[in-house]
Amino acid sequence: MKIGISKVAYADIDDLMYQKLVAWAKRRHPKKNGGWIAKKYWQSIGGSNWEFATKQVGNKPLRLLNHVETPIVRHVKVKGEASPYDENLVYWSTRRGNSPEMPSRISKLLKKQKGKCAHCGLYFREDDVIEVDHRIPKSQGGKDSYENWQLLHRHCHDTKTALDGSFGNKSGCNRAEPKPTKRLEKVEDKWVMRYA
Ligand SMILES: [Zn+2]
Repeated sequence: MKIGISKVAYADIDDLMYQKLVAWAKRRHPKKNGGWIAKKYWQSIGGSNWEFATKQVGNKPLRLLNHVETPIVRHVKVKGEASPYDENLVYWSTRRGNSPEMPSRISKLLKKQKGKCAHCGLYFREDDVIEVDHRIPKSQGGKDSYENWQLLHRHCHDTKTALDGSFGNKSGCNRAEPKPTKRLEKVEDKWVMRYA
């Protein structure tokens, strides 16, 4: 059932959120151990031991809502339940793949990655800026081929580039096509998802 798929996607996001919160808490208290941190930021509420919340002051603790609790609302405009937020994104990329304005390289990679950014693992969403990255930077011998290409959010691309030693030049990414026209290069460089 489609509802199940969406709930799974939300659960993935909650996992990621949890990891980010733990990382944040550890950075904030570098000298404290895990138990201390858990006690400070996570509370037992309503049968769940891992609610990121304030301590019980006065009447009620303030609790961070989980994505899983989001009610599933379906938009029915385009072919029933196709939505960029679940696995049906493959449907979208295929659909876009037929469209002359989407470069086939991007549509192929989008399909291969099941609509997710290879860096953060989150789905590309409407208006996200998507860039083509070289897994192994060209400066380190990485090739211009599908095996070495991946789609990343622009901000994820910046993060990766800062870490992989290509020093801000994005390792020759977005210049994969031989002598691209200016217009094509711009499209490749700043591809923005838009759903009609
Ligand atoms: Zn990303």
